[in-house]
Amino acid sequence: MQSIQAISVSRGISIAPVFQFRNTPLIYDRRRIENPLEEWERYQQAVRESLNRLEQIYHQAVSEVGTDEAGIFHAHISILQDPDLNDGVKDRIYSEKINAESALYEVSEEYCRMLEDINDEYIRARTTDLRDVRDGVLRILLHVDGQQVKLTAPAIVVARELTPSECLLLDRRLVKGFCTIEGGTTSHTAILSRSLGIPAVVGIPESLLDVPNGTTTILDGYEGKILLQPDAETIRQYEQRQSKRRQVFDSALRETHRPALTQDGHCVEVFANIANDNPQDLKEALQNGAEGVGLLRTEFIYLDCEILPDEEVQFHKYKTVLEAFGDKPVILRTLDIGGDKQLPYLDLPYELNPFLGVRGLRLCLRNLPLFKAQIRAALRAASYGNLYLMFPMVTKAAEIHAAKAVIAECRRELEAEGCRIPPRIPLGIMIEIPAAALMARHLAKEVDFFSIGTNDLTQYTLAVDRTNAVLTDLANGFDPAVLTLIQAVIEGAHAHGKKTGICGELGGDPLAIPLLVGMGMDELSMNAGEIPAAKQIIRQISLREAQAVSQQALELETPQEVIGLVKSAFPFIENYI
Ligand code: PEP
Ligand code: MG
Repeated sequence: MQSIQAISVSRGISIAPVFQFRNTPLIYDRRRIENPLEEWERYQQAVRESLNRLEQIYHQAVSEVGTDEAGIFHAHISILQDPDLNDGVKDRIYSEKINAESALYEVSEEYCRMLEDINDEYIRARTTDLRDVRDGVLRILLHVDGQQVKLTAPAIVVARELTPSECLLLDRRLVKGFCTIEGGTTSHTAILSRSLGIPAVVGIPESLLDVPNGTTTILDGYEGKILLQPDAETIRQYEQRQSKRRQVFDSALRETHRPALTQDGHCVEVFANIANDNPQDLKEALQNGAEGVGLLRTEFIYLDCEILPDEEVQFHKYKTVLEAFGDKPVILRTLDIGGDKQLPYLDLPYELNPFLGVRGLRLCLRNLPLFKAQIRAALRAASYGNLYLMFPMVTKAAEIHAAKAVIAECRRELEAEGCRIPPRIPLGIMIEIPAAALMARHLAKEVDFFSIGTNDLTQYTLAVDRTNAVLTDLANGFDPAVLTLIQAVIEGAHAHGKKTGICGELGGDPLAIPLLVGMGMDELSMNAGEIPAAKQIIRQISLREAQAVSQQALELETPQEVIGLVKSAFPFIENYI
């Protein structure tokens, strides 16, 4: 058995044979042609056919994953309609008298090289979309079937890279997982696999592309692990884990609408992390027992738009989420762009260390029209539900003062325009920078609540890039250094009578739950699928015991010791992992 560590981008466990995803190569010669007009018409016909296919894929995507995720195919349609691209192909056919395939390939590669020269991960990633669109047209020109890769049995799909359309065109009932070399947690393919509920990892080694088709594999999307040719005992253990998970989940789901009260009557709020306004996702979060939205990652709404979404577009999206949750709190996090999340249309300057650069609130405060459009949209939507506002990537109080001034200005403007806004909208900040965690007792005076972003807090505390597959072992939220900061944040908030939540991945981790509850976390926000189990875990512990264990954990030196302690103090949690 060989075990390979990668980065998890979509959780879950699958056991299935490997399927190497390789499209049939598109082979053609660079031919001289006699009649450029005929060749240009042949090209245009192929573009029209390709557009029809893309429209069909778009509608399929809307019904399967919702409008937001389907937006990528809209983007593909725009690429195909781009006059620069098509005029470039026409020029080349006429000036060089070459076949349409070669003209299209050469022109699109020139574009890709231009994009690749831009030192921006997001823009570079868009070359995948351009090549995806180009290959669709080439397949039509070459009369090669568009759906080259057909699964005939359940499989874990291994590929260098998967485009969103490749991902979506595979039979959903047969795809048991995705393993790719390329693609970060915010790539469109990662977003799609999460919303399709398919386990996925990225950052696999090249060698995995040589593994023969049919090799039995376990994909552990919880730990980002791939186990090749597992022995019978390992398969048995994972199968047991899968069926135990299913049973545990079903039983937890049955009682998920009851509050999460510890044995000694302490109530912990359990909220959902949401990335879009897709009604299906909102319904699922509520069905899973979400008592509110602890993190509305609004940047995904921007990431799915081809151009900057204006105030009106945003207003409708926020209104949809607020209405779905009624009087339950919805914590809307303002735009958290920067780091690994870039918006092509913002044209942000290159940064050597984008995670340490102009990100989150720093970016919004330097781009007031952008920030104000979002705040105005949120304030206008506020009367449709129970809105809370939260700022990401806050380092110090001055930033909170500046953000509050923007909110006050937007409120004044809107009220002057006759808009009715609830008089009090609670304001909070994410604590994801160690400096903010250390100064929490001061920052607590400035806001109504905190939410701890342990994904970033862990990367900044331990100096480990959260997207680096090589260092995943080091990036561990159970590290006592991270836990010590979490404790300081909770104490800082409580000293001023303010609440603290957590919305990083640690919040939904079964083993972390007793520690967080014991440290005094008021609210846990997590992926919707994790809510029923989290509530059931809370109901099985007592606050007193959780407090004792968390205090002990803070005295330990390594994350492994902390995990060992939790497992021995609360053996029943093994059923949830
Ligand atoms: C976090 O940093 O923990 C967090 C929830 O925000 P994001 O993962 O979107 O950066
Ligand atoms: Mg963060």
